Amino acid sequence: MSSTRRGRYGRGVTTTHPLDLAPAHTPDAFAHEFLLNLNFDRGVTLAESSANDRYLALAHTVRDYLMARWLDDLTRQKQTQAKGVCYLSAEYLLGRQLDNNLLAGGLTDIAAQALDGLGLSLDELRGHEVEPGLGNGGLGRLAACFIDSLATLGVPNIGYGIRYEYGIFRQTFVEGQQVEQPDAWLALGSPWEFARPEDAQTVSFGGRTEKYDDDGVTRSRWIPAWNVQAVPYNYMVPGFENGRVNTLRLWSAVATNAFDLRIFNSGDYEEAVRAQTYAANISKVLYPEDSTPQGKELRLQQQYFFVAASIHDFLDNMLAEGYDLNRLPERVIFQLNDTHPVIAVPEFMRVLIDEKKLEWDAAWAITRQCFAYTCHTLLPEALEVWPVELLGRLLPRHLEIIYRINEEFLDAVRERYGDDELRIRNMSIIAEHPVRSVRMAYLATVAGARVNGVAELHSQLLRDKVLSDFSDFYPEKFTNVTNGVTPRRFLRLANPSLSSLITETIGEGWVTDLERLRELEPFADDASFLARFAEVKAANKRRLGEVLRERDGVDVSDGHMLDVMVKRLHEYKRQMLKVLHIVSQYEGVISGRLSASDLQPRTVIFGAKAAPGYAMAKRIIHLINAVGSVVNADPRLDGRLKVIFPPNYNVTLAERVIPAADLSEQISLAGKEASGTGNMKFALNGALTIGTDDGANVEIRELVGDDDFFLFGMSEPEVSALSDRGYRPSEFYQADEGLRRAIDLIASGAFSRGDRSVFEPVVSNLLYEDRFMVLADYASYMTAQERVDAAYRDADGWNRSAVLNVARTGFFSSDRSIRDYIDRIWHTPPVI
Ligand SMILES: *Cc1c(COP(=O)(O)O)cnc(C)c1O
Repeated sequence: MSSTRRGRYGRGVTTTHPLDLAPAHTPDAFAHEFLLNLNFDRGVTLAESSANDRYLALAHTVRDYLMARWLDDLTRQKQTQAKGVCYLSAEYLLGRQLDNNLLAGGLTDIAAQALDGLGLSLDELRGHEVEPGLGNGGLGRLAACFIDSLATLGVPNIGYGIRYEYGIFRQTFVEGQQVEQPDAWLALGSPWEFARPEDAQTVSFGGRTEKYDDDGVTRSRWIPAWNVQAVPYNYMVPGFENGRVNTLRLWSAVATNAFDLRIFNSGDYEEAVRAQTYAANISKVLYPEDSTPQGKELRLQQQYFFVAASIHDFLDNMLAEGYDLNRLPERVIFQLNDTHPVIAVPEFMRVLIDEKKLEWDAAWAITRQCFAYTCHTLLPEALEVWPVELLGRLLPRHLEIIYRINEEFLDAVRERYGDDELRIRNMSIIAEHPVRSVRMAYLATVAGARVNGVAELHSQLLRDKVLSDFSDFYPEKFTNVTNGVTPRRFLRLANPSLSSLITETIGEGWVTDLERLRELEPFADDASFLARFAEVKAANKRRLGEVLRERDGVDVSDGHMLDVMVKRLHEYKRQMLKVLHIVSQYEGVISGRLSASDLQPRTVIFGAKAAPGYAMAKRIIHLINAVGSVVNADPRLDGRLKVIFPPNYNVTLAERVIPAADLSEQISLAGKEASGTGNMKFALNGALTIGTDDGANVEIRELVGDDDFFLFGMSEPEVSALSDRGYRPSEFYQADEGLRRAIDLIASGAFSRGDRSVFEPVVSNLLYEDRFMVLADYASYMTAQERVDAAYRDADGWNRSAVLNVARTGFFSSDRSIRDYIDRIWHTPPVI
């Protein structure tokens, strides 16, 4: 292919520097390159091309423009051997690539003009991309934001992960209930990836270990039972207009041996491909779990598969010949995005000891400097553990290494605290109950140079509660890095109208220096700016209305406050609290205690996927849809309360919904949401938050100020105190008439055609268990919503608050997060 390319611009085949091959930055050159791709890669003429052909050719054209920079960066990372970040994450929730890559390459206008000249529309073609949904929610999206910021800051980085053949399921609703469809995101071609089968790694499993004599030294080795090939696929990660392109390398599993031709020829086709099928299963599908681990063998296989391949890839391909392994901490930091990649720690030790023949102490000293761990949860059930039986069967040598790490660690604990057996048991990497298991978070904490939480409150709770014994033992390890979101995708691309207004007002620097949004503060009192800001919000609402009409056939009413709750469906996030608010308003009107004209017109938009095995979450989805269909159809409300629940919430939908929102619902029980990043996206796009003192809400409120944030609910210490006293939800039900009426209405079958059994489990869960204290915060939430209504009636006041939210939340750029990681954990300066 490259030889035909070289000839395209008549610059001759002897060119060695790839920059010389890049097409010129003009609409004509772009159109020419596009047509070449259409003809030579897709094999069609423009007249015969399908929309998919045109999208793929466009994607290839964008790639062509970025290629030179990518090749340069690959060379630079190898040549400089500067310290880089290997970000290990089982998930990357990337969102669509086309717009992002056009933006990063400064190509958007050129592409639009070029296509226009050919009678095509960029708008139409970008709609053709299926987003790679290789993550569940916040954790995977964070990884995507971080690699964007790393590239934009010019920090050497490889993101390592898994190329799932099927990403997060596509959600549909059938009679209001979630039905999952496979996400065949690769079906129409994946123009952004580059397969590198020649860089494949072998990853082994099972078998046994043995000791042997190596010239007088007793060593261990692993004799595995089976293996698979890990084939890397590279993706460009372009920095914003800085000429830099980092790499995201996702691994795909294939069988080591092609199928057995002899058996195939004998006619037993199934048997012939069995090994292939088995191997390919490892990267077949993303586990659609969010914050609860699934004790699935395949999941442990996935985890080991990608980290083993990544470590070997780094050592084989990125490290200079003969690199002194003792100096590795000067060259690399492996950042563990939650516990999913923690099995990398014993793998790294195994490589250093068994393969590179380092002494244990030397290997451990290196390992302890080369890993750092980010914890993402506070829910005890989300702290991943692996049964020793399973781990030992799948990775016997790794289990031995984990045992030895634990022994030495517990010796050190004993040395410090004496024979405090309770403490020893509590801190052991091996849990004895209910089954002997490896606690991956503890392993990561012992091995990591640093352990960070993802918001101030979360990091504090890690120190004080979840990992308190460890923070006592290793106080210097614990740090915080508050999450952030990339302003390129979530402001510049998602909200072009607001971006233009900002740029006109304060210049363009904000895209890479988001704190500069502060310069907007004085304009919060400028009437003409406020009018333009209001027009931007109104235009974004119209744009969302068009998307929802086209996508789901639903209408968004004019003049409504858009009240938005989009995030994974989880009880701790408390979508139920929002449902109770809606039902209370509805009940008020139909019982005649409220008149419809008292209602501030609102449209509530939900977006949420439930893990397929999470029954309660699925019931809540059903209830939201049921409430929506009753409320939306009831004439007594006079169209003043609407509930919309577009299915399949994903990054693409987030980019449309968030810029249109007036109100951002961040209503988790205090002490349960580690950070949240949705909360940041909304504030940056000028939505006001109604929220608890939880996760990064705390920091948002500190920055925005109490006057422009609707705080409600118990604080974390109050939650703990109530929990210690003994929480009885029924007491709150008895004590609050409004709450009682709302719950009774659901229980009566009003939203299930009179069938009381449908939502009975939801109701009894609330009344008798309510682990996340929905009922305890109900009254406070209702009053806060009244404050919201009152504030919204003052349109100028509301817009002023919205502008202040934008102006004061530049802190939440993932560029800032990455700078914090560099300062506090990685010590990896940008490479110029
Ligand atoms: C930002 C984002 C999330 C995380 O939302 P939270 O409100 O922080 O839970 C989840 N899914 C998608 C598609 C996102 O863009």
